Amino acid sequence: MAYDVDNIFAKILRGEAPAFKVYEDEFSLAFMDVMPQVPGHTLVIPKDPTEDVFSADPVILGHTINPVQSVAAAVKKAFDARGIMLAQLNGAAAGQTVFHLHFHILPRSEGLEMLLHARAMADFAELEAHAQRVKSALGE
Ligand code: AMP
Repeated sequence: MAYDVDNIFAKILRGEAPAFKVYEDEFSLAFMDVMPQVPGHTLVIPKDPTEDVFSADPVILGHTINPVQSVAAAVKKAFDARGIMLAQLNGAAAGQTVFHLHFHILPRSEGLEMLLHARAMADFAELEAHAQRVKSALGE
């Protein structure tokens, strides 16, 4: 499948769609998932127009995994999580709904159930506050 330049993450990267951004560098962008499965659900994407892990240039993958590590650490701190789950879906059969490579960062704690994937839109004021918490933790 050819990369769709009008997928929602491509629009976020071009500034055509809003996002609650927490981190950005030359190669990557991180922002809050708008339909979080748990509070603090954050996404990290490469800026490269890459559909999934199979079509990704390994160098780009390397550039992407660095912020996955640092943002995951910040999310863990900001949400006082006992653990962090990383998820990365490839292909509709695996549940991928946005065809631009991305890593999910999901803070987990015992007793905190995850909501269903990509279902309920979060309150924007809450997402803004959550983004601020992650940004503050990144700056510490
Ligand atoms: P996947 O199903 O693995 O492709 O994940 C796509 C994720 O993108 C889902 O968790 C959605 O909730 C999330 N999502 C979709 N649209 C947006 C958006 N505009 N801003 C932030 N996250 C989004």
